[in-house]
Amino acid sequence: MDVVAAPDEIFGLTFAGFSARLREAVGHHPRFHRALYRQLMATGGCDPAKEPTWQEAEQTSPGVITRVVRHLGEIRLPQVVSERSAHDPASGTTRKIVCRLHDGREVEAVLIPMRGGAQDGGHATVCVSSQVGCKMGCRFCHTATMGLIRHLSAAEIVAQVLIAAQVGGVKPRNVVFMGMGEPLDNLDAVAQAVRVLTDINGLGLAQRHITISTVGRVDQLVRFAELGLTRVNLAVSLTAADDELRSDLMPVNRVHDLAALKAALLAHPLGRGRRILVSYVLMAGVNDADEQLARLAEWCRGLRVLVNLIPFNPIPNRPEQPSAPARIDAIRSALIAAGIPARVRRTKGDEVMAACGQLGDPTQRRRALPS
Ligand code: SF4
Repeated sequence: MDVVAAPDEIFGLTFAGFSARLREAVGHHPRFHRALYRQLMATGGCDPAKEPTWQEAEQTSPGVITRVVRHLGEIRLPQVVSERSAHDPASGTTRKIVCRLHDGREVEAVLIPMRGGAQDGGHATVCVSSQVGCKMGCRFCHTATMGLIRHLSAAEIVAQVLIAAQVGGVKPRNVVFMGMGEPLDNLDAVAQAVRVLTDINGLGLAQRHITISTVGRVDQLVRFAELGLTRVNLAVSLTAADDELRSDLMPVNRVHDLAALKAALLAHPLGRGRRILVSYVLMAGVNDADEQLARLAEWCRGLRVLVNLIPFNPIPNRPEQPSAPARIDAIRSALIAAGIPARVRRTKGDEVMAACGQLGDPTQRRRALPS
């Protein structure tokens, strides 16, 4: 069969790419192509006969539907293999969704209700993965125990957003690249996924509603800045502001230390009124002492940042515990008093291992893939 793209790869196309491929096979019918693309991004599938605009195309090109169907082949989103949810009366239902990819690998995404308690039918944030596993080795992260299995394609990233929206019956409003993997380690696919997610012919998300989080790949930050995605939010996972501790917690610091990271962030182009989100995972007795926090405030000085304090979410086989709530509040107040904007991120979904740092399944590496 004449197939335009592997079924899952089609989700990695912007409208321009989708239309160009369709044009080669079935001719130039812009309204018809646009309607199909909108349907693809809204439903995860394509049924040309359901688009009223096909009649217009049919008049100039008899048999166009048959050719489109033959050309597109079967379009399928990855299969959802499990979904676990945690309900909070104040904020709604957080869902962890595991999807099986075409090669049998599994990827995890999290659907997070937005502030105000959006339930089914409302808006939500989708936390997507950019890789299966991760090679960065952060000590406080369950994904690190998997190692890197493989990068995800742009289509596999976009598909997570479409699936999460279907599972939750919500409109995705925000997308955060904070799931499995280091997004800047797979920058080309991540950038293409952002172009698709923000394409006004499809999902049409605003760039300012997308956040890319990095552990500090300084080399890739320069490339990211050159891509022109200037309104996409940048988050940096810091978690320690002295090199010795950070190198222990986050091996990336042995290559790109705090001074290099700060220099890269100072050079990063930021629009007016925009700030870099600095994530700091608080672990009792590890990185929450007054001295550590003074170093954090000092490192932040001169940068336009908002510090996001994240209570550590326990993971299997690690002894670390979150800082006490009173300590976290005191840290936030101390940062604000020092002139550093700070807030505490509320934990959602930790009961089902869906919270920050809890994604991943180390057994995936050992498991036989379905044939
Ligand atoms: S925190 Fe992010 S970069 Fe670090 S190991 Fe986990 S997934 Fe990878």
